[in-house]
Amino acid sequence: EGRLDGRVAIVTGASSGIGNAIAATFGAEGASVVVTDVRREPKLEDEESVFDRLDAVDADYEYVELDVTDEDDIEAALETAATEFGGLDILVNNAGIYFQNQAHETPADEYDAIMDVNLRGVFLASKHALPLLKESDHGKIINLSSIYGLVGGENSAAYCASKGGVSNLTRQMALDYAADEINVNALAPGIIETAQNVEWRETDEELLADWQASTPWPRFGTPDDVADAALFLAGEESEFVTGHVLRVDGGWTAR
Ligand code: NAD
Repeated sequence: EGRLDGRVAIVTGASSGIGNAIAATFGAEGASVVVTDVRREPKLEDEESVFDRLDAVDADYEYVELDVTDEDDIEAALETAATEFGGLDILVNNAGIYFQNQAHETPADEYDAIMDVNLRGVFLASKHALPLLKESDHGKIINLSSIYGLVGGENSAAYCASKGGVSNLTRQMALDYAADEINVNALAPGIIETAQNVEWRETDEELLADWQASTPWPRFGTPDDVADAALFLAGEESEFVTGHVLRVDGGWTAR
């Protein structure tokens, strides 16, 4: 028996990293998964394809090409959930992008791109999914915030703005949809080894050492660490948890 037997989930940005692990974990726990992304292949060469992972556990899934900035793509994924799997129980707003810059050097179009994907994308997918989620007896929205959505982080102005927005949109929607028994929560990962940070992990020894020194747990996180926390927020055990931003950061924000 799986912890998500009979549930239907949509995961955005599910081809790589954290979204890949969440889609695979949910599938392994019995959920039917609408895998969505702007690409099919994982961003990192050594990452296993989400489709292979889902096949390995015999999960039901469909792929829909979906850019979270595009409302028609979002509607198409919702249509697939409804027609192929009979509805929607869980929306995971995972797609996200990251650029490093301080405010004074951030081009306006870089700011716009980050806000569009990381914050407006969460808003749009939630907005369109909510009618279907209201029909579910187990409605869940799980947003990917960040430790940088709880505190400021150096050299990441637009990203911090977007993730701060995600944390507070999470709390806001938790209020509005509690009466419908839809749980709205977020995850705040610390450094998780994915394509999002591979470049500086491999090239910037000083920054890497800084992060290692400031993360109390003696390793960085993995996508599966975050997927395990997502599973808790997607399942029955978290029924009375809503409006929460759950840190998965090895203690980085514990100080
Ligand atoms: P990743 O780059 O490995 O994967 C992100 C996926 O999102 C990719 O497959 C990409 O194609 C997809 N994507 C990008 N733009 C998209 C768009 N417009 N529409 C749909 N899909 C799109 O990154 P990750 O580390 O797995 O990040 C997943 C989420 O977790 C992001 O929201 C990120 O900000 C957040 N996060 C990551 C970390 C970390 O350390 N890796 C820490 C905190 C938060």
